[in-house]
Amino acid sequence: MKSITLFTTISVMSLAFLQALFPLESSELSESGQKNVKTGSIERTKEEWRKILSPEQYRILREAGTERPNGKVYLEFKKQGAGTYYCAGCNAELFSSREKFDSRCGWPSFYDPSNAKNVKTSVDYHLGYARTEVLCSVCNGHLGHVFTGEGFNTPTDKRYCINGTVLKFVPLSKVVSKKEKNQEGEK
Ligand SMILES: [Zn+2]
Repeated sequence: MKSITLFTTISVMSLAFLQALFPLESSELSESGQKNVKTGSIERTKEEWRKILSPEQYRILREAGTERPNGKVYLEFKKQGAGTYYCAGCNAELFSSREKFDSRCGWPSFYDPSNAKNVKTSVDYHLGYARTEVLCSVCNGHLGHVFTGEGFNTPTDKRYCINGTVLKFVPLSKVVSKKEKNQEGEK
């Protein structure tokens, strides 16, 4: 009888020890999606994407949809000052206010990504002719299209025509004030 109690105690103790070694690892994985070890990209099922994205974000990111031009999101975008734009699907840094320009096309326009390794392109024929699709290289989400040689007076003469619905804007002032707060906390 005594040995059974001892055995149970040891089992409970080793379980607690294991949990301390690997805290909540499995739930962390489901929160951020499965990372493909080979490609480094984040993979989720359709159901998982639907849980974390709004229906409009899902339609654009996962089904290569396009938001209405000159909509509410675009008007907000025009008002935004200095800051960084992150992917709504995976939080990867994609664009920044430094490369933002007014192309008057009704969608957020950038002449270059701010973090090139997070942005990739592929050719699509959805409209019957070749267009260069822009995707987030971390979660493979559709962001928009890129057009070249349109004569814009920018360093690249490229127009990354991006759906604002799938961008998360973080203003520079917020990042700076957060840093200041952290420094105050350290004092
Ligand atoms: Zn992404």
